Amino acid sequence: MDLEKLKRDALEIEEKVIQIRRKIHENPELSYKEYSTARLVADTLKELGLEVKEGVGLPTAVVGVLRTPRPGKVVALRADMDALPVEEATELPYKSKVKGVMHACGHDTHVAMLLGAAMLLAKNTDMLSGEVRFLFQPAEEDGGLGGAKPMIEAGAMDGVDYVFGLHIFTKYPAGVFATRRGPLMATPDSFKITVHGKGGHGSAPHETIDPIYISLLIANAIYGIPSRQIDPVQPFVISITSIHSGTKDNIIPDDAIMEGTIRSLDEGVRKKALSHMEKIVNHICGIYNAECKVEFMHDVYPITVNDPEVTGEVMKVLSSISTVEETEPVLGAEDFSRFLQKARGTYVFLGTRNEQMGCIYPNHSSRFCVDESVLKLGTLAHAVLAITFTNKK
Ligand SMILES: [Zn+2]
Ligand SMILES: [Zn+2]
Repeated sequence: MDLEKLKRDALEIEEKVIQIRRKIHENPELSYKEYSTARLVADTLKELGLEVKEGVGLPTAVVGVLRTPRPGKVVALRADMDALPVEEATELPYKSKVKGVMHACGHDTHVAMLLGAAMLLAKNTDMLSGEVRFLFQPAEEDGGLGGAKPMIEAGAMDGVDYVFGLHIFTKYPAGVFATRRGPLMATPDSFKITVHGKGGHGSAPHETIDPIYISLLIANAIYGIPSRQIDPVQPFVISITSIHSGTKDNIIPDDAIMEGTIRSLDEGVRKKALSHMEKIVNHICGIYNAECKVEFMHDVYPITVNDPEVTGEVMKVLSSISTVEETEPVLGAEDFSRFLQKARGTYVFLGTRNEQMGCIYPNHSSRFCVDESVLKLGTLAHAVLAITFTNKK
């Protein structure tokens, strides 16, 4: 691999990549509705001479294929494309033209960087072997089904040996790559606990089955799961985020409903927590003769687990481009995790924090902004990873 040539080529297309990013930023599209973004992606890939498949599992999913005549590995590179229902509050000249919709998570930069990588690789196919597959995914922000699953079911990952993805992140300084060997991002479980008691007069609670009292006992016991049941050094959290019950000061109601979220980074920890929660609810309700039900919402993104060996190598490779940090896990969730269940690979954060430019607001903020000088690093990172891993023995 001629890294110096790639760096020169990345600089040459830098302005083009920034312009693509701004165009997408001005025209953000919500999950499953990425029609004009998908059009731009497909047209750009076709111009580069790539084989393009549209509507892969979802109408707005696009897959580009770059084949070489040399035998080698198949490497998939992924960019998510959707924006968020956020009203943009920046004063940027290319701010969103769509009311109430904004690329506040930087997925516009992901698309631009991956298209940049396609440009770099199409120009330097002699450095590649095997095949590079460019996955342009809808609906990462959906948080439920997500775009990765239908794409995988439609065959987007068939035959893929390695998969890589980048996420722009204000948590790290501009230009810093951050990743981690092993679990990087959490899986969320949401829960709903229904306590069905027996209402009555507020002055005679002993004649009722008080669902509010029982809910408080359950809430206290649940908050003992982290640290009393789960090792306190494990990244794990439970939050009860809503409690609804009752109408008036002198009535004990029949029912109470509690909802919340659980975030874990380890399947064993997650299973243990869910089973303890069920036990707590059943036992406490049993003591007071209440009828209770716990429901978990399981169909959510799995834990994002980076392959330790591949990630060690990725960190080495990326250090030839910029600074690389091994980071702590984060408790957000990502459906890149689904691609990592199909092939070994790594998810990498690319820092964009720049105090001077005012790019200090977190992802999903209405003031989120990106130091665009990092885009060339992301473009280069995708290309270098593709070259390194398609040439693996
Ligand atoms: Zn996001
Ligand atoms: Zn995101």
